[in-house]
Order: sequence, then structure tokens, then C-alpha cells
Amino acid sequence: MSDFREDGALALEWVASYLERAGELPVLSQVEPGAIRAALPGAAPDDPEPFSAVVDDLDSILLPGITHWQSPRFFAYFATTGSEPGVLAELLVAGLNQVGILWRTSPALQELEEVTVDWLRQLVGLPAEFRGHIEDTASTGVLAAAIVARSLTPDRRVLVCSEHAHSVGEKAARLLGLELRKVPTDDVYRMRPDLMREHDACLVLATIGTTGMASLDPVPEIAERCAAAGTWLHVDAAYAGSAAILPELHGLFAGWERADSIGVNPHKWLGVPMDCSVLWTRRQEEFRAAFSLVPEFLRSPDDALNLSEVSIPLGRRFRALKLWAVLRCYGRRGLQERLREHLRLAELFESWVRAQPGWEVTAPRHFSLVCFRREGSDADNERLLGSVNDTGEVFLSHTRFADRYQLRMAIGNFRTTEEDVRLAWDLLRREAAAL
Ligand code: PLP
Repeated sequence: MSDFREDGALALEWVASYLERAGELPVLSQVEPGAIRAALPGAAPDDPEPFSAVVDDLDSILLPGITHWQSPRFFAYFATTGSEPGVLAELLVAGLNQVGILWRTSPALQELEEVTVDWLRQLVGLPAEFRGHIEDTASTGVLAAAIVARSLTPDRRVLVCSEHAHSVGEKAARLLGLELRKVPTDDVYRMRPDLMREHDACLVLATIGTTGMASLDPVPEIAERCAAAGTWLHVDAAYAGSAAILPELHGLFAGWERADSIGVNPHKWLGVPMDCSVLWTRRQEEFRAAFSLVPEFLRSPDDALNLSEVSIPLGRRFRALKLWAVLRCYGRRGLQERLREHLRLAELFESWVRAQPGWEVTAPRHFSLVCFRREGSDADNERLLGSVNDTGEVFLSHTRFADRYQLRMAIGNFRTTEEDVRLAWDLLRREAAAL
């Protein structure tokens, strides 16, 4: 059998050198579908292999099939960072292998989770009445909120969200047998509250930082209407919520303190490796009423809430350890510095696009996402994106709004520098000229 310390040193060295050279690898994996599967044996080995063989195959077989989310030139979807403290914490999490099914099965897991989500609550400026826990993803958070909302108003079978809300709303509606009502948006892609018809809805899903163009639904007005109609309001701030740690952006989050529940993904823009999605609610008792189910074999005499009673899964990972490590090792100031740098780089990129004839910025920019396109047809822009991504030097993604194909430059990796952003812009112009 392998030697744990020796193998551990090998793995750590591998990760350290990977993080150093991630920027030199083709950002978007260039393999064809099925290629990785074809290179792998069809069955598990009969006899033990050394751990070093796993690392060898990681290099030779898997690495070509890795799209490098850790690359500083990853600008697609919403760019993320598995920061060093987060990566190391993930090792500790696996080493401890806690299974938080009840408070007593890991008091530290449960209480650290409560403490870290409360630290983050303070950092983003939400009131103390919000209690939180960690979900795997924002998708699960929206689904959980919709389950609670439906249980409170069972005869309301509608979920309302804007036409630009993330598909998590539609998926939750489908899974719960609810009708989905997509509300039109105004000229800056904000949900139109006057068209919501919230009275027969169990849940309204408002978004701060939509996926396509990071637009802002008018949460104060939506909250007002939901309160009057007795409709649950969930604010999805999966991407943008991390930016609420910046006091100068607080205005963009106006009204979210009136939501019944809020989702923010530290695994998107706060340096925590996948997965870590915080769900806060002012109404934790309603979550408990919807989810608490304690069979005989899980009964305990402890006078403590089990987090499994306010969420869907029974077993929970020790995700809080990652969030704790990141919040401590960067501190509020360190995280603020990184996010401000992303905002600066996005502003810079936006200014280059605006100044270049034949290019346009296509949506207001509030955070670190710039939506833009080059003059010409949708097919031209699609071809441009394809040729830029084929170079392997950067990876950008697209969306569609205003009935046009749109390019997205999402800055969010802690290792991204101005030089990386400049390289992307030079590449876009070079490929556009070549088409
Ligand atoms: N909500 C918004 C606004 C998002 O941008 C995303 C993903 O990009 C999600 C939800 C889904 O997040 P998750 O992958 O954590 O489910």
C-alpha cells in the first residue's frame, strides 16, 4: 500500500505546480467527446496500484480533458477561484470525513457552519435576524426555498421569476409541479413588478446579478408586493452577492434584507472551491417545519437544532471549513481588494470596447461582467467567439438577449491580472480582423 505522507507530498506538489502553470494551459479543453473515456480502462483494477499511478494518469490522460477554471484567463460563465486556503481546507475536510447528520455527529461542523455563515452575513450587511446554512449549490437553495414556500401556501401553484432569471427557477418549478410564470423585463433587463401577478404565486424569485448580463431586479418594489400578497420572496444573488462585502456597492442590494430567503455562492466569487452556496433565511422555523423528519434511529437527547432538519439532504459535508479558511486567510480587506480589482479590470475592459469603432457594450455593467458584441450578424459573433476560444489562450462564453447573440467577459479569478484582460482584448480584435 502507498505511503500517505509521501503520496500527500506528491499531490500537494502537483497542485502547487498546477496552480503556477494553469495560465499556460489551453483554457478550454480541446478534446473531442468520448476521448477521455476511450483512454481509460473499461474496468477497475483487480490489484492495488500506487497512488503515483493515479497522478501519472492525471497528467497524461485527464489533463487534456480539463477545462481550466483555475486559469487566470478563464472569462466564461462566472469565473471562479479555488483559492489556496480553500484548496488546503478541502484536504482537511476529506481527512476528517465528517458526516453531519445530527449536531452530535459533528458539533464542530454544525457550529462552525452557523458561525461562518453568520460572519458572512455581517460582511454582506444583512440583519442579524437572518440565519443561514450551506447548501451544495444555488440550485438546491432555490429548490429548498420553493419547497418551503409551497408548503406554506399549498393552493398556490405558481413560481414567478423574470425572463432573465437563471434556469434554476424553471427547474424548481418543474420538479415541484408548479407553473412557471416568466415576467417580462424593462429596457435594462429588470423584472417588471407591475407584470408579476404575485397573488396566486407561492414564490417570487428575484435576482441581483442575473446570469446573462448581471442585471438587477427592483427588489424593494418586488419585496413590497410580495409582503402585501403573502408570497415568499427568494433573492438569488448567487454570483453578485459576494460583492455586497463592498460598502460602495450596498446600494445595488437595496431591499434584499426584506427577502424571506437569499442565496449567495462563495464558490463563485469569493475564493471558496466548489462547492459552497450559502442560504440565509429570516424564517428558519418554516424551513424546519418543511424539512424536519427525525426517525427513531436518529433521535437524540441533545438540545440543539440539527442542520439536516432545515435542508434536503441528511448527511452534510464539512463545507464550512473551506469558508472559514478563506474568510480568515484573506480577511475582509483581502477579499475586498480582490473584488475591487475585478471591478477595476471589468471597467477597463468596458472602456476599451466602448472606445473601439465597430464594437459595442450591450448592457449596463454593475459588477465584473461585461456584455458586448462586434458589429455584424449573430453568426459573425458566434464565429468570432469560436475562433477566440479555439486558440486556447482564453475562454469566454455567450448569451442571448435583446434578440441578439452576445459575448460575455466575466472577470472573477483571483489570479487574473490586467495583462490577462489585455491579452483577451487583443485576441478578440485580432480574430475579428481575421474573420
Ligand atoms: N443563479 C444565478 C444567478 C447563477 O448565475 C447561477 C450560476 O451561474 C446559478 C443560480 C446556479 O448556480 P449553482 O451552480 O450553484 O446551482
